[in-house]
Amino acid sequence: MTHIITSLCLRDGGCIEVCPVECIVPGKPETEWPWMYIDPVTCIDCGACVPECPWEAIFPEDDVPGDYVASPKDGNPRRLSAPLDPTYADRLTEHYEGHNNKGEAVVLDRTVSLADGEKVDLRADIPPNYDFFKEGVGPGYGAK
Ligand code: SF4
Repeated sequence: MTHIITSLCLRDGGCIEVCPVECIVPGKPETEWPWMYIDPVTCIDCGACVPECPWEAIFPEDDVPGDYVASPKDGNPRRLSAPLDPTYADRLTEHYEGHNNKGEAVVLDRTVSLADGEKVDLRADIPPNYDFFKEGVGPGYGAK
């Protein structure tokens, strides 16, 4: 098993710093790989990255929710970045500006803000975590 970063990821990056086996990589180019990605072969399932994510975007693979229920975070609507579930294709138009764990600007152009109580199947976000590190598909550690 591995841990999975879902489209709730807004590129905070705190997870990268705590991973003991350095298997989390920021996606690049961001337009194609908008989240952070976990190498499923190297991940030891320690769980250290989970509490570091301010967006609660990381789950053990078997626990990625198919019926995630959105709730506001710090008074703002919960947000997905470029979710792969085709349900959201028409809503990928929202601009987001925030900051990562180092205080650096994070700007994302393909996000979707969720209504309080809106249900989301985050399991559609599992395959890219594998694809990112698959030879001939994603940049893997070369994106660092
Ligand atoms: Fe790294 Fe542990 Fe998170 Fe796996 S579960 S990505 S090993 S911090």
